[in-house]
Amino acid sequence: MHAIPFVNLHRQYENIGREINEAVADVIKRQNFINGPVVREFSAVFNAAIGAAHGFGCSNGTAAISLALEALGVGRGDEVITVAHSFFATVEAIYHVGAKPVFVDIDPQTYTIDLSKIEVTPRTKAIIPVHIYGNPADMDPLMALAAKQGLYVVEDAAQAHLASYRGRCAGTIGDAGTFSFYPGKNLGAYGDAGFVTARNPDVARLLSSLIDHGRQSKYTHDIIGYNQRMDEIQAAVLKVKLSYLKSWTDRRRQLAERYDSALRRDGFKTIVSFEGANPVYHLYVVEVANRDNVLESLRAAGIGCGVHYPVPLHQQPALLNGDGKGVSLPVTERVAGRILSLPICGDLTDAEQDRVIEAFLKTARP
Ligand SMILES: *Cc1c(COP(=O)(O)O)cnc(C)c1O
Repeated sequence: MHAIPFVNLHRQYENIGREINEAVADVIKRQNFINGPVVREFSAVFNAAIGAAHGFGCSNGTAAISLALEALGVGRGDEVITVAHSFFATVEAIYHVGAKPVFVDIDPQTYTIDLSKIEVTPRTKAIIPVHIYGNPADMDPLMALAAKQGLYVVEDAAQAHLASYRGRCAGTIGDAGTFSFYPGKNLGAYGDAGFVTARNPDVARLLSSLIDHGRQSKYTHDIIGYNQRMDEIQAAVLKVKLSYLKSWTDRRRQLAERYDSALRRDGFKTIVSFEGANPVYHLYVVEVANRDNVLESLRAAGIGCGVHYPVPLHQQPALLNGDGKGVSLPVTERVAGRILSLPICGDLTDAEQDRVIEAFLKTARP
């Protein structure tokens, strides 16, 4: 029996490769790779797809977060509240602008920030909720809390393309929103790429300038910026893929529903969403009591799987003697020892999923 990869990018390329090849060849024919028309076109269609007021392609999802923080004026001496249940980039970006991360625990049902644990100090300047696994954080009460305390909200929507919360897309609700187009994300480039949105037009202008050397025009630079641009080839790939994202997302939701009904019947805990939230299942995560055994038996059956993420950010070696020291996050820590990610992507077949479910149920204990 054939192996089932965790994410089947080969199959995706078999299905849409001709279109991708043409789009990339067009860019190469034009020989205009930087600050060309395709990045602008892609940015416009992605903004329209998520309903963002302003948004720009950029180099990657990590840069998107630090650019958003910098454009909002978050920097040295400021504290940024976020979760430790995320990819390392979320906290790295906070350090990149010179600010200090303050970790809060997560809600055990949704795996997103637990608003009841937030403690605002006079130094708190922003909150970064992470829509982990494409599951939206509880944005209405979060925005209310932020407004009351005068804090900025930067949504880390790296895993949440087209996820929605009460009619609005993830990444368009806060002051800024950030996306990653890392190849394995729901919308993936053929290399690194990212996106950053802003609600306020002045913040948006600053973002677009920061992304491209603080430029005002070709030879004048208003501010000290960065080279954090998206390139034309990535934009061409993303523009083709964006036209399929809705149908890939529908398929992910269908697969998640099939997993849910098979696994919950046997008492397993899977992702729950807030009322009015529509997740996009970047990852399909289930908790198990015997993770090492399950990982081993799935791998032996040729089934790709993973753990997202086994080491919480406050326990990462880079933070252990700094801002992670003495931090206790009981839910985050417990969940990190129990979660397991099963294959899910727009190109997984029902038959493949049935094999995954069968292999999983053979060894896993809730
Ligand atoms: C992927 C990811 C990032 C970083 O994106 P890159 O494009 O790899 O820099 C940030 N936050 C989360 C939650 C992610 O999953």
